[in-house]
Order: sequence, then structure tokens, then C-alpha cells
Amino acid sequence: MLLPIKKRPSSSYRGRFAPSPSGLLHFGSLVTALASFLDAKHNNGTWLVRIEDIDPPRELKGASSKILSTLEAYGLHWDEEVLYQSNQSQLYQETLNNLSKANLTYHCACTRAQIKAMGGTYTGHCKNLNLNAKNCATRLINNIGIATYSDQIQGNITCDKSFSEEDFILVRKDGLFAYQLAVVIDDVYQNITHVVRGCDLIEPTVRQLSFFQLLDTPPPSYSHIPLAVTPEGYKLSKQNKAPAINNNLPQPALISALKYLGQQPPEELINYSVDQIIAWAIKHWSLDKVTKKQQIVIN
Ligand code: GLU
Ligand code: ZN
Repeated sequence: MLLPIKKRPSSSYRGRFAPSPSGLLHFGSLVTALASFLDAKHNNGTWLVRIEDIDPPRELKGASSKILSTLEAYGLHWDEEVLYQSNQSQLYQETLNNLSKANLTYHCACTRAQIKAMGGTYTGHCKNLNLNAKNCATRLINNIGIATYSDQIQGNITCDKSFSEEDFILVRKDGLFAYQLAVVIDDVYQNITHVVRGCDLIEPTVRQLSFFQLLDTPPPSYSHIPLAVTPEGYKLSKQNKAPAINNNLPQPALISALKYLGQQPPEELINYSVDQIIAWAIKHWSLDKVTKKQQIVIN
């Protein structure tokens, strides 16, 4: 068995919000948190928070605890203990060791510039070179290459083969575990049945699906909500310094987020408490009302 843990079959809904502490929550991440929370709660599910702190160089000091207090201020209360990916290294490493023993990984020395020069996609350059670990990334031998899936919001998604069949990176050159490795292992570890997140991950999902299959584990269902972009077409992100949302005045942002998600909150809701707004939103939540677009421009 490649994965040292087994997915326990769960008859009930388990969802999660998985922020990286590279910055504070902004409108785009609020929308994601809210959508995953409401979908879980409307379905009488369990909602978890996982802090994806596997990239210390990009971490903003203090962001994890600020993210958690923002979630609380917005009435998004999680059900079990928060999981920090920085505490999961042993599980990631054991899984990697198993993959390597099964000859499913190899080392790769290619730089970004070299891959660009090879035409922009990595096509297995180092697969048979038998490089040792020094200054190398670890790649997965991706014999599965799932390229299509059915998204609960966006419908059928098909990715380019060059992307879906790539031997993607599990451990970065700097020795840090890669997102694809950690996210799949922890979605299994936390027994996640439903993933609701932003459309920036709509394509990487195919790699995750391949990885789930390789690990012989049923994947969760995926719902990707439209990405909030600036009028110039940039993703609202911690990296482009999207303004953090206000912890002291959650109501207007909550209402805007509900509208963004197509939920048509009544006008008078703005005068209600956070808990009342959330109660209305759980009761009336409908995934079908979320816009089937990958992006929405917000001003
Ligand atoms: N940590 C990722 C992010 O902040 C999200 C991962 C996920 O939802 O799968 O973009
Ligand atoms: Zn290489």
C-alpha cells in the first residue's frame, strides 16, 4: 500500500477550506471559504480548516492566526481541530518513500529556464537519467494522466495532455513538499468527500485525480467557484496585495460574497447579525445558483 493511511468510507459530507498563510484573507478567499462552508452546512456536513503552511519562505508571519480570527468574525466556525500541514511531514515523507520503493518517482535537475527552452512543457527529460537527489526536484512517474472530470459547477473539464500527463513535482528543489503531494494526502487523511474551491485549481485537479487513483483511494467531488479577478484580469490574491477584508464589519462583505455566489440575499439581510446572515445563507444555499464561469471581474 503506497499510502500509510486508508480512506475510511464516509457516508456523511466532509468539506474543508485550505488557505495558505502567505497573506490575509481577501474578498476572493472569503468567497471560497464561504462557499465551502455553506455547501457543507447545507448538506449537514462537517467543515474543516486546514492551514497549508508548507512553504515557509512565502509565509506571512502571523497570517495563520489572523486567518482563523477572520473566519470566526465572519461566522465560519470549523468543526474539528485545525490541521497544520507543517505537522504532516512524516506522513508525506513515508508516502514518498513508498512511491520511491515502488519506482514511481525520479529526480529532476531541470530549471524553469531549461523547461522554457525545451518548449515550455516538461516532457520527461530526466526520467531515465538516474540523477541523485542533490539539487534535484522529485517527480512522480505519472502513468495515469487523467485529463477529464466532471466539475459540480463548471461541468466537464478537459485539460491538455501535456499538462495532465506531466510527471509533476512532489518535492521541490529546495526540499519543500509540493502542493500536489500535500493536498491529496491530507484530503485522504481528513477523509474529505467534497472540495469546493476557486477556479485557479480547476486544471491542477486532474493531477490530483491521477494521484488519488495511484494511491488507490476514491477522490472527493470537486466544485470550482469563479475566480475573482481585477478589471485588468488579475486574480485577487495575496501576492498582488488584494486588500484584506475587515474583521470589524463583516456584514457588507458577507452580503457581497453571497451575491457573488449567485445566492440573491434579500436587501434587509444587511441589517442582521453575522450569525443571522449565515443562518439565512445555510438554509438557502444552492450550488446550482453559482455562476458557471471561471472568472468574475470585481471592482
Ligand atoms: N492552499 C491553496 C490556496 O490557498 C488551496 C488548496 C486547495 O483548496 O486545494 O490556494
Ligand atoms: Zn529534469
